[in-house]
Amino acid sequence: MTISFKRRLKLLGAAALTRLGMPRLARRGQTLLVLCYHRVVPEDQAAAVLSSPYIVVREDSFARQMALLAAECAVVPLEDGLDLLARGQLPRRAVAITFDDGWKDTRTTALPILERHGLPALVYLTTGVIGTGRLFWQERLTHALRLLQAVDGSRNAPPPLPPDLAGLWQRAHHNGVLDSHRLTRLLKQSTPDAGERLATALLDGLGHPALPPEVHAANAMLDWDDVHAMQRRGVAFGSHTVDHVLLPAATPEVRAAQLEESRRVLRQRLGQEVRALAYPNGDHSLAVRRAAMAAGYTSAATLERGFNDESLDCLRVRRVNVYEGKTAGPRGFSPDLFRFILTAAL
Ligand SMILES: [Zn+2]
Repeated sequence: MTISFKRRLKLLGAAALTRLGMPRLARRGQTLLVLCYHRVVPEDQAAAVLSSPYIVVREDSFARQMALLAAECAVVPLEDGLDLLARGQLPRRAVAITFDDGWKDTRTTALPILERHGLPALVYLTTGVIGTGRLFWQERLTHALRLLQAVDGSRNAPPPLPPDLAGLWQRAHHNGVLDSHRLTRLLKQSTPDAGERLATALLDGLGHPALPPEVHAANAMLDWDDVHAMQRRGVAFGSHTVDHVLLPAATPEVRAAQLEESRRVLRQRLGQEVRALAYPNGDHSLAVRRAAMAAGYTSAATLERGFNDESLDCLRVRRVNVYEGKTAGPRGFSPDLFRFILTAAL
């Protein structure tokens, strides 16, 4: 676990970390490090995965990360960890493992690896998409953009779009070239249904409303049978809202409905109270934290990096997002880089 200063400097030089600046080093008091994962993808499905690289870890890397955590850290269930931290009884090198969104591969790929090492995990579910057979709009949009590119060699000629989406499409261009990251950001900041509508309009307009079955399968979400099976196997669950709405920009009514309805659905489906929340995108504000408390949540996770220590506000739990590129050295997964992430909470 200990990394020499020289080694740390060398690691800092790695491309994956340079832009992050100097690390905030581990504090001496009790700390809980919360890791955030999204997708864990088998090698043979990687080519069909449409998700952003910032939410994907390869199965092999994940397996090596879990083996390392089991050997070198004290992995605790998130909510137990928060309790122990509040009581000053947290073990050394305490780590909690969480997953966002509710991807199918959390059950099929990640869970068997967690079970092999006896590691607990908490999964935050976007309740509105679980069990519907639908995909997230970002993956459908990526598929549509690839189709567009294949159709006309550029991404500049979409099928006819409603005025608001056409305006957004134009704003996502720079020097005549579509910036897909900017497009995604604009859609997330727009009305809650904008991304869904654009993906649907593009796919319909291109004559491909449905994704090929193998692509759909490689980007699928959990259904409720999955959730129940995971619950029986000891997985804990929390809310990630109903529709993955960015809460700071939502109206107070939408915000309250997203927080309350997802909690109600989870209570009904799981037969127990759910008190853990992860803010979609990690985005929160004072008003959002108040709404989360009013809806009955006792913990809420952000994507602000760092350790959680005695000064923790439980509605502002820090988490470190882990994705493939962050732990990749010249020869694939680097245990040293992963240890560095654990040491510096980067
Ligand atoms: Zn999410």
